[in-house]
Amino acid sequence: MNKRALLSSLMCRPVMYPVMAGVSNGRWVRILAYHRVLDVEEQIYPFDCELISSSVRGFDRQMEHVCSRYRVVTFADLEEYERNNERIPDNALVITFDDGYADNYEHAFPILERYGLKAVFFLSTGYIGTDTPFWFERLAYLVKKGLVDTSRLDLGACEDIAGKWRDSRGMLPQENLYHVIVRLPNRERLRLLRQVEEGMPPLPAGEAALVRPLTWDQVRKMAEHGMEMGSHTRSHLILGNGSPAEVARELEASRRIIEEQVSRPVRAISYPIASYGFAVNPLVIRLVQLAGYRFGVGYTSGPVRSLAKERYQLKRLKIERYVSFDRFRAKLLFPALFA
Ligand SMILES: [Zn+2]
Repeated sequence: MNKRALLSSLMCRPVMYPVMAGVSNGRWVRILAYHRVLDVEEQIYPFDCELISSSVRGFDRQMEHVCSRYRVVTFADLEEYERNNERIPDNALVITFDDGYADNYEHAFPILERYGLKAVFFLSTGYIGTDTPFWFERLAYLVKKGLVDTSRLDLGACEDIAGKWRDSRGMLPQENLYHVIVRLPNRERLRLLRQVEEGMPPLPAGEAALVRPLTWDQVRKMAEHGMEMGSHTRSHLILGNGSPAEVARELEASRRIIEEQVSRPVRAISYPIASYGFAVNPLVIRLVQLAGYRFGVGYTSGPVRSLAKERYQLKRLKIERYVSFDRFRAKLLFPALFA
């Protein structure tokens, strides 16, 4: 057991937990970052396991805990506190989901409902209501199945980026293709993805079902039950790699369609692939502000110390499938230590 695992299990012992809770900083806002709630057999799962945040049972347990100790709010609530010059309640916590997978509706939503919790769903709107898997899932699938022959790809102007990911024989291992693709200017990314796709078989229906996006009916139903919808762009564009015109279009189009569908304002955006520093930059943030967003969340770990100062680069607490329940509770108590 490593030191943090040991520390979290000590802190979560029944006699210790109340003491630890008493010294945790209740003024910080915690924003939890989920992607998917799903039970899978990892050995045979053909898509990206890293996007599975929790099993269904694990999520239930986490939400039961959140419900018992935290004050769950949405960005609409935070905006309301600001507008009224009210203090944000202690132990405020926001539950967020990125991308817009159907499992958010099928598995997470009933559990949230059972505990009376609200969450924020960041949607890549171009995929909602379609059977098209998100581009990174399709790529993960082709790579996992060993179908991508990188030697036939024309890397052209991308060679300076691709060169860094070649092996000692000068080959680009297909596992490294993702690292190249996320670094490319958007037009090059799309060109390369089209090349990768040439001659590839479509996804069998049974496998496509594993990564199906939400439908607009599901989105509307969740919104009617108090869930908040935010933008995750239209095409899951890595904003820092887009031209200003592309970025502005994505910000505007994703926001408009969500507002049309749920008849509520969109306040927040989650920047796609924001674990990479290049995904967001000052120009992107300026465009996000100009498009009328009030909050922007990234994928850097940590608590929100000041909503006003960090509002377009809000940190989150990543919840991943291998986070134990003790680690989850410790992370929420001491988000700076267990980030
Ligand atoms: Zn995403």
